Amino acid sequence: MTDQSFVIIGDGDAGATAAKQLASKTEDSDIKVLTDESEPLYNRIMLKNYMKGTLPKKFTRVHDEDWYKDRDIDLHLETKVTDVDLDEKAVKTENEEEFRYDKLLVASGGSPRKLPFDNGYENVNYMWTMKNAEHISNSVEDSEKAVVVGGGLLGIDLAVAYAENDCETYYLIRESNWWSRGLDQKGAEIIHRKLEQKGVNIMTQTECTDFETEGDNVSAAVLGSGDRIECDAVAVAIGQTPNSEFVDVEKNEHNMIKTDKFLQTSDKDVYAAGNMVEYYSPVFERRTVNGSWDHSGEMGKYAAENMLNKGKAFNYVNTYGVGHFDVQFLSIGDFTGEPIQRKYGEDEYRRLFFDGDRLVGAVMIGYTKGQEKIKDLIQEKKQFENREKLLKKSFWE
Ligand SMILES: Cc1cc2nc3c(=O)[nH]c(=O)nc-3n(C[C@H](O)[C@H](O)[C@H](O)COP(=O)(O)OP(=O)(O)OC[C@H]3O[C@@H](n4cnc5c(N)ncnc54)[C@H](O)[C@@H]3O)c2cc1C
Repeated sequence: MTDQSFVIIGDGDAGATAAKQLASKTEDSDIKVLTDESEPLYNRIMLKNYMKGTLPKKFTRVHDEDWYKDRDIDLHLETKVTDVDLDEKAVKTENEEEFRYDKLLVASGGSPRKLPFDNGYENVNYMWTMKNAEHISNSVEDSEKAVVVGGGLLGIDLAVAYAENDCETYYLIRESNWWSRGLDQKGAEIIHRKLEQKGVNIMTQTECTDFETEGDNVSAAVLGSGDRIECDAVAVAIGQTPNSEFVDVEKNEHNMIKTDKFLQTSDKDVYAAGNMVEYYSPVFERRTVNGSWDHSGEMGKYAAENMLNKGKAFNYVNTYGVGHFDVQFLSIGDFTGEPIQRKYGEDEYRRLFFDGDRLVGAVMIGYTKGQEKIKDLIQEKKQFENREKLLKKSFWE
């Protein structure tokens, strides 16, 4: 039991889960959640189906305002935090409100990184919030020719959204294949083929270097080669920048807030959780950054426990799935180790990552058997002298 004041910045999965955990573990504490968005928690993953037009907006809702009231959580919508006074332990907002805290959680995630030559054109779309999804959902059906920029996990959602709405879609990937962070050409070939079957024109090793414009709109994307693609819509997913400028705790060179394994920042009363937070992972025995729905939720839960002084190290293994195709894509853990890979059939592929003899990560396409076992092996820090045996299907049967 505690009667402390907790302030949480951000009502994404990390912030809302932390609030829920604090509410369930305390009786008289004051819990405030501040968000600059105009609605309570919705499922960001489902935004991809909403923007495609295959899911009505109402099914993206996770919590309504009563959910917070029922738990005595004080939710402040449309409340943008502009400053944290660490000495006074006070959070200040754009509306000139001030909220005092005993413990603060920063769960403010990141915002889409913009192309440097984007001067705010009307038909250039970024994808993170409900507002972004609404904009795409309202315009995608009328778009006839779109250019999608960014060969990562979100870029693929945008390419599929336009292609599935019968829009001629050009998907520009700067690297030699999609998600080069974790996939080689052999694995990516399956995803490229599946995208092409949906009508996406994939252009690898292709960079968008400028726009041609007409009034407030982009009329063509200019490529590094000098070629141009005429278009009436552009969608961009080239990463995120952290929403961390309002708090002066220790950060890495990319402005991501740094924490220890308990998700505590350089200020003992400030914790951080969710996307764009660099933390020490006891599982991988190094500092890392991860972004996914489940990962953020778990981080929020652990941060809340630690704000209540439970001393719980965050030892979660991240997963991320892509479900647009008739084959499942799934990534687990860490992709910085040394990879080995095998293709089993036209649509089945597995890549495993090792740190020395230790399994640290996996990427699977089509053949996803053993995913829980992989997570366990990573958690248990299992060593394998004979790595190749892990590529045999018999190992996972
Ligand atoms: C289209 C799409 C598809 C995705 N697909 C998948 C998927 O298949 N699988 C998967 O695991 N993950 C997926 N993700 C990623 C996943 O949704 C995120 O990793 C997760 O939601 C991040 O949660 P979070 O709480 O850390 O951050 P966020 O959800 O970004 O929450 C941070 C909140 O803080 C608010 N905020 C920021 N600054 C301030 C401020 N100054 N004051 C007040 N509030 C502020 C923001 O507006 C936001 O509401 C997808 C995301 C998108 C957009």
